[in-house]
Amino acid sequence: MIIDVPKLRPEGEWFEGEEPASILEVSDPAIRAKAPIAYRLHAQAVSGQLIVKGAVRVPVELQCGRCTEFYSTTIEESSFLRAYEISGTTETVDVTPDIREDILLQLPHFPLCSPDCKGLCPQCGINLNEGTCDCRPPADNRWGALDNVKLG
Ligand SMILES: [Zn+2]
Ligand SMILES: [Zn+2]
Repeated sequence: MIIDVPKLRPEGEWFEGEEPASILEVSDPAIRAKAPIAYRLHAQAVSGQLIVKGAVRVPVELQCGRCTEFYSTTIEESSFLRAYEISGTTETVDVTPDIREDILLQLPHFPLCSPDCKGLCPQCGINLNEGTCDCRPPADNRWGALDNVKLG
């Protein structure tokens, strides 16, 4: 999103539109953008600065860190705010890198399809949200082995 500074009205203007999700340059296969990034930003020149504020959002599919299924969610920054130094000779300000940054900052570090996702059985790999298995937790074996260690 590029703002044409000399054309900006003194009282500021709203900009609404989309940026292709490709600007995110996400190489992580656990993140799939489903649509362009939508922005609604207000830009106003105030005493040597261009103040840009508003909201950016993009629908994505993220891979759950526990069960590895993809789930749909929306990554949104509703309080986007940047100030750019401008002078009388500033022609344009490109907000795109900051839109990218704010979206990336909103990505969860450990995405979960649901807060109580049961994940996968570590032994047979079944998705425990969809079924059950007869495997015993490996922790049982570890404690069992400790019981057999003779002390002293
Ligand atoms: Zn999950
Ligand atoms: Zn199992």
